[in-house]
Amino acid sequence: MAQSYLDTMASASTGSVVVTDHLNYWGGSRVKPKDTKNSEPVFEPATGRVLCDMVPCGTEEVDQAIKSAHTAYLKWSKLSGMERAQIMLEAARIIRERRDNIAKLEVINNGKSITEALVDIDVAWQTIQYYAGIAPTLTGQHIQLPGGAFAYTRREPLGVCAGIGAWNYPFQIAAWKSAPALACGNAMVFKPSPMTPVTAVILAEIYQEAGAPAGLFNVVQGGAETGTLLCHHPMVAKVSFTGSVPTGKKIMEMSAKSVKPVTLELGGKSPLIIFKDCELENAVRGALMANFLTQGQVCCNGTRVYVQKEIMPQFLEEVVKRTKAIPLGDPLLEGTRMGALISKPQLEKVLRFVSQAKEQGAKVLCGGDPFTPSDPKLKGGYFMSPCVLDNCRDDMTCVKEEIFGPVMSVMSFDTEEEVLQRANDTTFGLASGVFTRDIARAHRVAANLEAGTCFINNYNVSPVEVPFGGYKMSGFGRENGQVTIEYYSQLKTVVVEMGDVDSLF
Ligand code: NAD
Repeated sequence: MAQSYLDTMASASTGSVVVTDHLNYWGGSRVKPKDTKNSEPVFEPATGRVLCDMVPCGTEEVDQAIKSAHTAYLKWSKLSGMERAQIMLEAARIIRERRDNIAKLEVINNGKSITEALVDIDVAWQTIQYYAGIAPTLTGQHIQLPGGAFAYTRREPLGVCAGIGAWNYPFQIAAWKSAPALACGNAMVFKPSPMTPVTAVILAEIYQEAGAPAGLFNVVQGGAETGTLLCHHPMVAKVSFTGSVPTGKKIMEMSAKSVKPVTLELGGKSPLIIFKDCELENAVRGALMANFLTQGQVCCNGTRVYVQKEIMPQFLEEVVKRTKAIPLGDPLLEGTRMGALISKPQLEKVLRFVSQAKEQGAKVLCGGDPFTPSDPKLKGGYFMSPCVLDNCRDDMTCVKEEIFGPVMSVMSFDTEEEVLQRANDTTFGLASGVFTRDIARAHRVAANLEAGTCFINNYNVSPVEVPFGGYKMSGFGRENGQVTIEYYSQLKTVVVEMGDVDSLF
């Protein structure tokens, strides 16, 4: 079970543990896959070896998981907010207690550094703790009407929610979706990415261990087909999706057929604007944080870096010096700051973006090459050196498209007006950033950037208290913050007459 499985991780080093347990979960326990004929290998990014098989769930299995969620929903939705909070707080406590081992498993499946994975697991328990705190505060309104009549509103859950996740933050995405859903009284069936099937099931076991009714949080494994089954299922009341724009469009189309509400957390190509009056040291740190976390595979990364002409030489010198110094290699080592990309095709795709950028006139100031760590067991890993591209133009592919790898594109600008126009000239709108010491300019720029988030004098700070989500084709709906309650609940109005019916007929 969870504990012993996790215990094996306590002594894990990269390449030493093969995941063999079943990775589906519904009805309160792990479920063996029914039919293994469509199974796909899951690779460990840092070594390239096969970690386990991902066996996709078919129609019958998805149906079972949804029905088990519905059974749990009938019990869970009847509990008071305080009762739900108690169970969620216990789940948060257990995650915190086991954070080291969950983080190791995340590193082995995802390739990111242990330093970052520990933060992700902390964010996960904090998210559950935060929404546990909100659960007892959910209330309706009382509205006085003429003649003693009145109305009130009830904030009710939606039912069974489907969560579909991306591979870059596997455990954290499962927590970001499940915590507000459960706080509102819903149950959830979660489908992780087929590339990172390993840790979601641990979250399912922890909710169960914390006292949730069997079936409250379930995991089905699979790719597009399994995701499609979730979106079309008549008992699914809502779909919350994190992934790319093309898949997001499909999810919306499928959900439209039965008018299911959707939350879409999609991709981005966010601008980071650095004015000449900035504190340069912080701007450099911000640019690195905006580009190189999780090997650059972060949706809200500020990958279009606009630097005011006068400070370009100093900025580039510092950024390149520090990019070259990023410790790259075994993601389980404490000192490592950059691990492996998620897959071989992803690595090849990112390297192609770099070659194409060169062909289109960009200058590689550092990195952009495949990297082989000295440790022989990492020889088959999907590593590349982090890359800074200079001489970029707005019309280059590397500046227009989401690369999802450690590649920073740098461009110069002259005026605020000009840079705002260029920054907004994109179909994406997830995030943005500005570095300046001029307080009026900072807020003016933040107000004029077409993006769901603007970071002033920092980048990629997303604590659970703060709403997160996109403008334009980066999606809609929000995760985190109090506002997310709106996306996992519905309002019922109850109108109460205290006198006689005043009929016109
Ligand atoms: P993806 O769109 O390929 O897949 C995301 C999920 O959707 C996976 O679980 C996948 O199996 C599933 N899926 C694929 N096709 C489907 C279909 N037809 N029906 C139902 N489900 C389907 O994205 P990815 O490659 O896993 O993740 C990278 C993308 O995610 C990037 O574009 C990144 O910007 C985005 N992302 C966004 C956020 C955010 O919060 N805005 C966070 C993380 C990642």
